[in-house]
Amino acid sequence: MSKALYIVATPIGNLEDITLRAIETLKEADVILCEDTRVTKKLLARYAIQKPIQSYHQHSKLSKTEHILGMLEEGKSIALVSDAGTPGISDPGGMLVEAVVARFGDEVKIVPIPGANAALAALSVSGFPADAFRFLGFPPHKKGRKTFFEKLAGMEETAVFYESKHRIEKALEELVKNIGVRPIMVARELTKQFETLYRGTAEECLARLRADKILGEFVIVVRTVA
Ligand code: SAM
Repeated sequence: MSKALYIVATPIGNLEDITLRAIETLKEADVILCEDTRVTKKLLARYAIQKPIQSYHQHSKLSKTEHILGMLEEGKSIALVSDAGTPGISDPGGMLVEAVVARFGDEVKIVPIPGANAALAALSVSGFPADAFRFLGFPPHKKGRKTFFEKLAGMEETAVFYESKHRIEKALEELVKNIGVRPIMVARELTKQFETLYRGTAEECLARLRADKILGEFVIVVRTVA
């Protein structure tokens, strides 16, 4: 395995959702960088992968990034994973890629090992047009949140965004206000035991969600007017 940074997608719930190439890459890397070591240890145990792991997350200090750049300089091969899905998509992976490109340009290979992603999984079962779509990440918590939903209402393509269990009710209330009766789909706990797809207007989805326990992880897909 040559010196490189491998960006490795991991499952979004069901541990079987990992590619053969991802397993091979994790087995061969010198070091695995991850967000929460407890989450990644479970995945590595499932595939009997024994490799040194180090944490790298959004609160990592500059000195940590320097340490990682140093390992690449020494010729080590590094695999980066996040807690779920594709690193860099609404999680800290992108920061490291940016730092590696800035320091080494093309001297260090950056290799994508594609796989699961929550937004695409949700979109694929939405039944809404997906030839072109807008991925919006997480809505801002406070400042800019109102504008986020107002802008979303004016978009011409299917819109996809993430929301946590703490703010999902509030997000659906915003959608009721801003998009009225346009169809949406709320995907809860994709690939996991309590996977649920709520389809209907935002108001209908909110009522059904409230009737269930509001637990888990959520992707919201919003259809455009046309
Ligand atoms: N990098 C990840 C990806 O490729 O999808 C996304 C990371 S982001 C920090 C985590 C958010 O993704 C969660 O808050 C939730 O909105 C969404 N998510 C992740 N796994 C999910 C799942 N199994 N079901 C529904 N949403 C999920």
